[in-house]
Amino acid sequence: MDMKVIEMKNIIKKFGSFTANDNIDLSVHKGEIHALLGENGAGKSTLMNILYGLYTPTSGEIYINGKKINITNPNVAIKHGIGMVHQHFMLVDTFTVVENIILGMETTNGPVLDIKRATKKVEELSKKYGLFVDPNAKIQDISVGMQQRVEILKALYRGADILILDEPTAVLTPQEIDELINIMRSLASQGKTIIIITHKLKEIKAVADYCTVIRRGKKIDTVKVESVNEEELAEMMVGRQVSFTVDKKNVNRGKKVLDIKDIVVKDNRKLNAVNNLSLDIYSGEILGIAGIDGNGQSEFIEGITGLRPIESGQVIFDEKDITNKSPFEIINAGLSTIPEDRQRRGLVLDFTIAENMILENYHKEPFSRKGRLNHKAIEDFSEKLIEKFDVRPRNHGQKAGALSGGNQQKVIIAREITNNPEVLIAAQPTRGLDVGAIEYVHKYLIEQRDNGRAVLLISFELDEVINLSDRIAVIYEGKIVDIIDAKDADERTLGLLMAGGGANNEEDEE
Ligand code: ADP
Ligand code: MG
Repeated sequence: MDMKVIEMKNIIKKFGSFTANDNIDLSVHKGEIHALLGENGAGKSTLMNILYGLYTPTSGEIYINGKKINITNPNVAIKHGIGMVHQHFMLVDTFTVVENIILGMETTNGPVLDIKRATKKVEELSKKYGLFVDPNAKIQDISVGMQQRVEILKALYRGADILILDEPTAVLTPQEIDELINIMRSLASQGKTIIIITHKLKEIKAVADYCTVIRRGKKIDTVKVESVNEEELAEMMVGRQVSFTVDKKNVNRGKKVLDIKDIVVKDNRKLNAVNNLSLDIYSGEILGIAGIDGNGQSEFIEGITGLRPIESGQVIFDEKDITNKSPFEIINAGLSTIPEDRQRRGLVLDFTIAENMILENYHKEPFSRKGRLNHKAIEDFSEKLIEKFDVRPRNHGQKAGALSGGNQQKVIIAREITNNPEVLIAAQPTRGLDVGAIEYVHKYLIEQRDNGRAVLLISFELDEVINLSDRIAVIYEGKIVDIIDAKDADERTLGLLMAGGGANNEEDEE
């Protein structure tokens, strides 16, 4: 008989009139790795925040090891052996690993923290579960994957038997993901229970025993992972069939359209985020940029689209110098962007869907004639795009600010793709979209390329970069460290380059 370590019954959580968790049941057994699968906004984090005592459920009951518990705050959760690693780590950069682990805990040896004893215990835990870290290293000096291990150790140090990991792989390289999978297996084999939140089907197949699928706040089912394939999981997650294959003709490369020469762009702290970066992009190709978040991708896009000054170097578009031109001039020259920060850059939240759809083209026919807006044309056009991109709700008069994140993205993508630009820059174009919408965006990016456009794709999703691109440029510390033909690319090689392990990797320049 398996013992249920966690039983959540009829959990309802409302935020105002919105129901984020709608009568969810969840049972997890000892020693199992249980995945929570769902699209962005499905209610996964909410459910786990309830289990960890960060939110109080509107109604419902929680049993831990068969006993009903009122988890009113995280201290109660910790007392009952529940630990949680959040999407954003909560570590102090200037403290060491051990200092972070014991931070906030009762001292065991009078007012002076017993660092020595703590270090020993951390080392023991490290060894037992394969969580290798240097206890004396400062957080600011260790990798993100390492920081995540510190968070896991912190939970174990507090006696966690049940570990909740909220999208732990989102910030990791492929190698680090493999390591984390090994750590999870080691923890589970030694009796720990793990709940992992993710929307990546591959990872669920790789590591989880059971999977509970949540869609729009409701539990769809709990399945044994062995007995389902990725297609079936995807269908449960989005509620309809999804195709995973990206059909692509051979590349038919045309002329060079974008020639980026040795550019330097600073970040907000005035450091060189883009560090003498050079890159050529040709019409008819998708050039993918692979890299871990924070290696200058955002500053690079902002630089070439006129949103951030280029300190030195040049951007040549169709033989015209567009370095440091205004965003408006750059768009009008024929370079469109699906921006990374959609709320800030992509939409006017106070405008309707229809108004946002024609934001860059309102002054053109048929949307305006002789200086007057043609509302009928604007509405017809938006309705078509709303239908085609499955924007919900299907109401062109809805304010953009009232849409969910995924639907805001769909509005921008619909607009930018129908702009038919010569160069389309797609920055994280599918982030936050469900697999069905992702399929659609991929098809459109390839259609752009097949129509002879140049597509520059920047994505943290390595699968996406590999599947869509013709060439892949790897960015590391603000430089392109290598460019490979996508046909020769695999996750391992790219992962190593992304972590700075490439052959052409130079010494850090200060
Ligand atoms: P997931 O983790 O599955 O992506 P979340 O549980 O974070 O989803 O969110 C589910 C829904 O609840 C989303 O629509 C989100 O906007 C909403 N939500 C989450 N937290 C809050 C909050 N504190 N206040 C209001 N709405 C919230
Ligand atoms: Mg979440």
